Amino acid sequence: MKCLICQNLAFKLICNDCDKQIKITPKARKSFDNFMVYSFFDYQDIEYLLKSKYSLIGSRIYKILARKAFLYFKNEISDTFKNLNIHSIGIDDKVKKYYSHSGVIINEFRHIFKPLFGSLISTNNIHYAGQSLQYRQNNKKDFIYKGRSGIDAVLFDDVITTGLSIKEAREVLIKNKVNVLFALTLTDARM
Ligand SMILES: [Zn+2]
Repeated sequence: MKCLICQNLAFKLICNDCDKQIKITPKARKSFDNFMVYSFFDYQDIEYLLKSKYSLIGSRIYKILARKAFLYFKNEISDTFKNLNIHSIGIDDKVKKYYSHSGVIINEFRHIFKPLFGSLISTNNIHYAGQSLQYRQNNKKDFIYKGRSGIDAVLFDDVITTGLSIKEAREVLIKNKVNVLFALTLTDARM
């Protein structure tokens, strides 16, 4: 098979050389209400890969990126979160064409944060990608939370753009008595 990025023959979806090119460039963003959102990759570096999200190989690409992010995170934070019983909640964690985007990510972080798979779902079937801030503000995702209350949790998503999804998700979780510590996303695509 061919490497997705350089098209050279490879035994993996992304060859070792290209894999090394995808660097971790950690960023922190103070989002709405001073809520912290941390990300791992430069948007430009992985924009091409993120375009595969709705294709059959998307789940494998997401797994590679999430795994890289996890290894970095694990190394950086070492034992900070160990035995603290913190859960992970993926934003809109449901299957959209083949797999759940945030589900793949929280699965890779499962050794640090306990995944609550499929617990936070949008009931409004809209996509924000390529839409204006105005559109995003006018069309809420109407999340419902089906997980446990009275827990500490970290929110996960693939991309933060305006931050409105994370804001809305966090508000729903707070109403459900979930203590949301911060959010982790693969990348920050600030507009
Ligand atoms: Zn390659």
